[in-house]
Amino acid sequence: MAPTAPMIRHTSDKFRWHGVDVLPYKEDGGTHFKSISRQTLFQGSNDLPVEFRYFEMLADGHSTLERHQHQHAVMIIRGSGQVFVGDTITPINTHDVVHIPPMTWHQFRATNGEELGFLCIVSMDRDKPQRPTTETLKELHGIPQVKEFIRV
Ligand code: MN
Repeated sequence: MAPTAPMIRHTSDKFRWHGVDVLPYKEDGGTHFKSISRQTLFQGSNDLPVEFRYFEMLADGHSTLERHQHQHAVMIIRGSGQVFVGDTITPINTHDVVHIPPMTWHQFRATNGEELGFLCIVSMDRDKPQRPTTETLKELHGIPQVKEFIRV
């Protein structure tokens, strides 16, 4: 196999890196997320087929409520907040690690009046996230604390 050039991304500012654009969280716009940005720190290759991203939301921001076949491995590296995974809402703090299993509803929220930033590893080859149908929302709304937490 041909050698791969090494890559080092130096940090340029707090939670920013040289040569890494701060991008919109999702290309399709929409109102199902709030005040969240995306930076891709590492683009995978054939023998390491993962992407390594940094997501950051401002205070009161949130990610999309979604599920998908692919999994996420997440480490919080800035601030704190809460995450909804499956049927549970859990406080999350800097250096906590969160696994999002396949086809499990999830949403991150910066609920503590500060930013929430996390690294997220994801497969390069992945399915498109699904958003809840009216039927699913009805089910999720059946759990009072979930109803109160989720943003759609
Ligand atoms: Mn996801």
